[in-house]
Amino acid sequence: METIALRARWVLPITMPPINGGVVTIRGERIVGVGLKPNGDAKLRDLGEVALLPGFVNAHTHLEFSDLAKPLGERNCALPHWIRSVIASRKQQVSPITAVHAGLEESLRAGVTTVGEIATSPVGFTNPTNLPDVVWFHEVIGFSAARVDSVFADVLERLSNRGPAGHVGISPHAPYTVHPDLLERLVSLAAQRNFPVAMHLAESEEELQLLTENRGPFRDLLEERSMWDDSAFTKRLPVLDYLHVLARAPRALVIHGNYLTPDEIEFVAAHPQMTVVYCPRTHNYFGHARYPLENLIRCGAAIAVGTDSRASNPDLSVLGELRCIAQEFAGLSSQRILQLGTIDGAKALGLDQEVGSLGVGKLANLTAIPCDATPADPSEPLLHSERLPTRTWIRGRLVHSNSS
Ligand SMILES: [Zn+2]
Repeated sequence: METIALRARWVLPITMPPINGGVVTIRGERIVGVGLKPNGDAKLRDLGEVALLPGFVNAHTHLEFSDLAKPLGERNCALPHWIRSVIASRKQQVSPITAVHAGLEESLRAGVTTVGEIATSPVGFTNPTNLPDVVWFHEVIGFSAARVDSVFADVLERLSNRGPAGHVGISPHAPYTVHPDLLERLVSLAAQRNFPVAMHLAESEEELQLLTENRGPFRDLLEERSMWDDSAFTKRLPVLDYLHVLARAPRALVIHGNYLTPDEIEFVAAHPQMTVVYCPRTHNYFGHARYPLENLIRCGAAIAVGTDSRASNPDLSVLGELRCIAQEFAGLSSQRILQLGTIDGAKALGLDQEVGSLGVGKLANLTAIPCDATPADPSEPLLHSERLPTRTWIRGRLVHSNSS
């Protein structure tokens, strides 16, 4: 098995301080050393003026929209209106599988090596080699009580076709598309089978209106599509009720959480199996109120970052999301921001023993981004430049290079 050592102007292990002139030694698909010198007789390769980081983790996306040239709808549009565009776009799409593949290739070019994907296609997915590793969350939609049994049976069928262990999850789509009884059953199933659950929650004001008043644009949308069911909300179900249900899953990803209240944030923070996934540029696309990022961090809630899809974002770059955070939240340290797109995303997906930082025993998933020959920690300049990853390795193999 070949042993290689990559030297970089800066190595950013993320869970350890940056190393000036650091070396990452790789044997086969794993990291066997992180320090100032190569391990043993490893062949040394000097990458020059780059920062070498763990590959980025995109905790939330829908790659089936990766063939879109630009986001759907228009900036600042209301979410229910945008969903109408999504439904129309899905009807026209020829091959979601081709789009998913294109999205994985785009992710790779952006230095992303792990993806939490919301999958709608009923086919069983496997993780392709030389592309980012994927956790496939099977999306489930079923709002009427009459459909709960059949939708649940379909989920069982889809999961029997499951992919690799540790890489399958369930995604009850959102409160406005999933009947509360169905949600209960899906979360119980996830608990039985040790699956993570990802659900869009507290994303828009229209969703909160539906939950608290049982009316508004989401009800209009459901009625228009003959999906409305009076029994779905016989009582008012605030976001906190949904969080209580999700907390019973072995791991739960609360997607967006744009409108989480302080009480709800406290609840998430008290449940370390829960992670809120912030999608910064998608958040901005819809013109939502300021994201409660500082409060989430202050309360100690787990947070990860996702791009969401090209239906609401220009690209699939986690680094782009982190740069957006750096612009908007000047009080956050660059080191903390980089964690959100690496080790914190890995924790959210339950893969932090394998990826998300550079350490001995971890998979050699790395990305190199050009940096100046600075004697200071390059984290901040990295987040304020526009330089893109030039090389990316997955499991020790160079799978993307635009510098040679
Ligand atoms: Zn989403």
